[in-house]
Amino acid sequence: MSDKDASGQKLHIAIVGSGPSGFYAAEALLRSDRDVRIDMIERLPTPYGLVRSGVAPDHPKLKQSIAVYDGIARNENFRFFGNVAAGRDISIAELQQTHHAVLLACGAHEDRTLTIPGAGLRGNHSATEFVGWYNGHPDFRDRTFDLSHETAVILGQGNVAADVCRILAKPVDELRTSDIAEHALNVLAESKIREIHVVGRRGPAHAKFTAKELRELGEIVDVSAHARPEDCALNEESRLELKDKANFNAAKNLEHFTKFANPVETIGQRKIQFRFCLSPVALLGEDHVEGISFVRNRLEGPLFSQKASATDQTETISCGLVLQSIGYRGVPLDGVPFDSVRGVVPNVAGRVVDGKNSLRGLYVTGWLKRGPTGIIGTNRADSIETVENLLADASEEEAKSGADALLPLLEERVRWVSFAEWLKIDAAEIERGKDKGKPREKFTKIDEMLKLLV
Ligand code: NAP
Repeated sequence: MSDKDASGQKLHIAIVGSGPSGFYAAEALLRSDRDVRIDMIERLPTPYGLVRSGVAPDHPKLKQSIAVYDGIARNENFRFFGNVAAGRDISIAELQQTHHAVLLACGAHEDRTLTIPGAGLRGNHSATEFVGWYNGHPDFRDRTFDLSHETAVILGQGNVAADVCRILAKPVDELRTSDIAEHALNVLAESKIREIHVVGRRGPAHAKFTAKELRELGEIVDVSAHARPEDCALNEESRLELKDKANFNAAKNLEHFTKFANPVETIGQRKIQFRFCLSPVALLGEDHVEGISFVRNRLEGPLFSQKASATDQTETISCGLVLQSIGYRGVPLDGVPFDSVRGVVPNVAGRVVDGKNSLRGLYVTGWLKRGPTGIIGTNRADSIETVENLLADASEEEAKSGADALLPLLEERVRWVSFAEWLKIDAAEIERGKDKGKPREKFTKIDEMLKLLV
């Protein structure tokens, strides 16, 4: 019995999702003065969510947080149930019966997409698909990307757009020793793409890149980054916005765009072209994308709320590949309220609400709580807030059995994967990578992973 366990009563918490927000919630629960038992449910046999399958392979430092999550998972009061999909193998209502509280940390794994004419043409993809593909996510490993054309267009100017742009632009040899999936490396090695347009609907003062990611796009070997000088001339509102100290990142971004508008040298195998104030209105082509038709926008509205408003000017960019990178949204779970406009579970500081009423024992954290914003570390504070409220509400007095009740249900329904089994998969992936000089060669099929465990 742990020192915390004066009454002998344990608080059983089920966390759904094993990305950063789920693990930071587990950390906060384990650090509390309550005797908590955590059961983490994860759809894939592998943990760590977007840190494994979202963070770009050429940014290994961002994956260092995995060491923290691994430490949490080895806590004796924590159990991992991989290959278990909430809503398919176990319902949220069942978890509410077996546990004192259920904490949803399933992220925002659907992409926002534009419903414009031509959206069904081959060659039009969401960034989610492309990112999942190069990171070896089992859901996306069989997607195909035709890189036989010279021009690609990325819609959106956030850090995901920066990631996919880098992966398309970088000399493939720079990716060979990363943990990028082998199938993606082979396709990228044959890429004919020479020009990548990264298009925003608003101005250069409104791009959502963090300045560090934008600077990196200007530093890729054998690649030149460009912007048009006339695009870097701001309207009065944007100029005032950039004077606000809190808007430091945007001011830094403008410095980079201005540099890209006056390049010292333009030679290189590939070219990145930033474009602004353009909204796509149609994808063009018969069967495959051949171009995008844009309407030019003007900015309208008060400081910090300037919106893109269409003018009557249009422009077409010829291209053979489109990656839409305009943000993510959460996916509804059976029996859980959902705000389909924002793509989040409605909540007040992490307590799930239905209208004005908090739903007893149901909590949410991370992107499913606040929307797809912030960096990995943002999820720590977010999860601490949710956990504080969960602990304030929770009472150990009601008898709950946690894993003891959950296990028989899972044994009957699914081949669930424990954390010790994940460590076997992990070790095998690391071994597979050794000969290639890669940190790991991921298994990209669930069957392959389960076969290792028999
Ligand atoms: P994001 O930062 O919200 O950027 C979305 C982009 O899509 C914006 O440029 C937005 O323009 C544009 N957009 C949205 N709706 C649009 C529409 N209907 N038409 C045209 N453009 C539209 O989203 P994200 O890039 O997916 O990133 C998600 C989060 O993950 C962010 O917080 C990001 O910083 C984080 N992340 C971090 C890293 C890293 O730290 N290295 C890497 C990847 C992702 P408006 O501004 O006009 O809405």
